[in-house]
Amino acid sequence: MTNPTCNICANLISESFYNSGQSGSLTSLNRIVEVSTIVRYCSSCRHIQTDPTFDTSAYYDTDYDILIESEEDDQIYKVIEGKPLFRTDHQVEVLLEKLTLKKGSRLLDYGCAKSSTFRNLLKKRPDLDLNLFDVSERYVPFWSSFLTKDKWATYTPPSAWDSSFDVITSFFAFEHIEKPSKALRDLSRLLNKGGTFYCVVPNILTNIADLVVVDHLNHFTKDSLLKMFSDAGFTQIDIDSEIHASALVITATTNSDLDYTTRLEEEDIQSELVNMSKFWSSALERTRQFESSLDAGSEIAIYGAGFYAAFITAALSEPGRIKYYIDQNPHLEGRKMNEKPIIHPKNFSSDVQSLFVGLNPDHARDIIKPLETLQGLKTFFL
Ligand SMILES: [Zn+2]
Repeated sequence: MTNPTCNICANLISESFYNSGQSGSLTSLNRIVEVSTIVRYCSSCRHIQTDPTFDTSAYYDTDYDILIESEEDDQIYKVIEGKPLFRTDHQVEVLLEKLTLKKGSRLLDYGCAKSSTFRNLLKKRPDLDLNLFDVSERYVPFWSSFLTKDKWATYTPPSAWDSSFDVITSFFAFEHIEKPSKALRDLSRLLNKGGTFYCVVPNILTNIADLVVVDHLNHFTKDSLLKMFSDAGFTQIDIDSEIHASALVITATTNSDLDYTTRLEEEDIQSELVNMSKFWSSALERTRQFESSLDAGSEIAIYGAGFYAAFITAALSEPGRIKYYIDQNPHLEGRKMNEKPIIHPKNFSSDVQSLFVGLNPDHARDIIKPLETLQGLKTFFL
């Protein structure tokens, strides 16, 4: 790839700070693809971006299947006193907390996939006029379970939608879009004057996995978001990094000018990115070192059934030694990952001696600590 430019400010970013090399990459659906993940940092607008190394348009139309065993569906947001709170429910709660939706407001979920968020929202607010858009036909069976067919469009929004929405939402979509600034401008035409765009994207600075997901082409920072939104003509831009763990929640209003001068991130992002890059560059080696310290051929368990667990599975020299995956998500119980069963920790019976923990390293120890059945094992943390 020659002369890559920033997706947000168009400055040249020649240097990459992370390159996965030839060992393959993981997608957000935990699949291994034979391309490198190359990540760059724009010191001008502080955007972080991944080179588009494989054909994403065909991928989202036909291959991208957010139904089960994916990061987007029925994922546990948090376990509170032993009870899982699901991400979709949390997303609806946060949306209703951040926005005051007048009775009968007209909303569009842009890049909605099966839109379990709007399905839940409709249960709480049946007065709202809800509409859906995505670049694939494959979710129509889900949409038709709660909306009529005049309420959705695929591939291109109809011109009748111009200046018609009070609120447009986007949940975990903009990180996938190769030209996010153009998408934002296109989308802003669909908002009525004074309409609000509500957007949720991953926060790479609080979730290290985001760095190595090959189809997350954008890793937004508060500064790159402010630049993108103000360039697209939005005002009253609010970026919340607290209300949804490991994510940034943006609300912004159309039709005004704003000076883009201040910087929002307090952290030294560049040195933080170098540390993240070192973490992933050594993760494969650290996983294999632990594996080689175990008795030859002994069976192992992996805690987690998401991205980090998929990474560990791919890193193992002998993935066949995995006996099962352990996860607290009741939707995963009885399912399989990598053709091995996923069990709940309460059903763990100490028949393996070693545990690989496939969780965000920032929270992994706190999640494992209260699980009594897992104490006393030889345990590896990423
Ligand atoms: Zn930039």
